[in-house]
Amino acid sequence: MGTLSSTRWPKNYVKMTTVEETYVLGFKALAEVLPSPLRPGMEWFGQLSLWRADVELLLASFELNTQSADHPHLLLHYAHPASQEHTTSHIQLAQLPLPRNGFQFHFVCPAQKHPRCHQLRRHLYLPLSPQATFACILCSGPLAYLSAQQGSSRYAGMSSEFRALLARDQARKKAW
Ligand SMILES: [Zn+2]
Repeated sequence: MGTLSSTRWPKNYVKMTTVEETYVLGFKALAEVLPSPLRPGMEWFGQLSLWRADVELLLASFELNTQSADHPHLLLHYAHPASQEHTTSHIQLAQLPLPRNGFQFHFVCPAQKHPRCHQLRRHLYLPLSPQATFACILCSGPLAYLSAQQGSSRYAGMSSEFRALLARDQARKKAW
């Protein structure tokens, strides 16, 4: 598995897509627009705000249904940020018991990779490429965290173009 040195710039470095470059779907955003805490037996629809790096907003209308214990799900309708095409994402939910009591909902990663992913995740990501759909951190790229990629979070808040330029400049310096 990875060591500290594996986060440094390897020789044939290829910039990975970072989490910060995707729209993030999480249960926190969902909780903000539900009339009560998420639980079984709910049916609700409304509008969800999905953010990219806390700057760009994707508005999605959603239909939540946890009435069936076998098929709790979330439907998202949105204009795909890369193509502007109308897109529907069907995301299965899973309810896992917590160690002490109660339970917690998770997204079932809907990526149709081989074999199908089906990992239970608290966050799903939508990268900007036209073919991209909401998927887990591995199926979406895999995605890197900006801090891990650049060895520091001091670039947080800068535009991705500027960060990319800085990164290229750093890589050139290391090559010298
Ligand atoms: Zn996945």
